[in-house]
Amino acid sequence: MHELSLAGGILGIVEEARTRERFERVKRLTVEAGALAGVELRSLRFALESLAPGSCIEGAAIEIEVAPGTAWCLACCRSVAIASRTDPCPACAGHRLQPTGGTELKLRELIVQ
Ligand SMILES: [Zn+2]
Repeated sequence: MHELSLAGGILGIVEEARTRERFERVKRLTVEAGALAGVELRSLRFALESLAPGSCIEGAAIEIEVAPGTAWCLACCRSVAIASRTDPCPACAGHRLQPTGGTELKLRELIVQ
């Protein structure tokens, strides 16, 4: 499962931060998933929850926020909002779009104690 390796990557970042900042536990973890990142949110949450026991995110609240997808339309030369990589341009219905935002999965916020 793709999301399991993504969740493992996020946990790795949290563990690194813990080594650096010496906190005990994570109270809340906010992950930002771009609408165009190709991440299945329920699977990601499930993967994070399944990795949590015994790790520093055990018992942490997991928030997943979706960042909107944006793209640059090569036909109309403007930035448009799209919900998926296969969407056409909402203005000209063209398909020459370059995703510019909402393409990443990142750790957005960590509340620790
Ligand atoms: Zn367009």
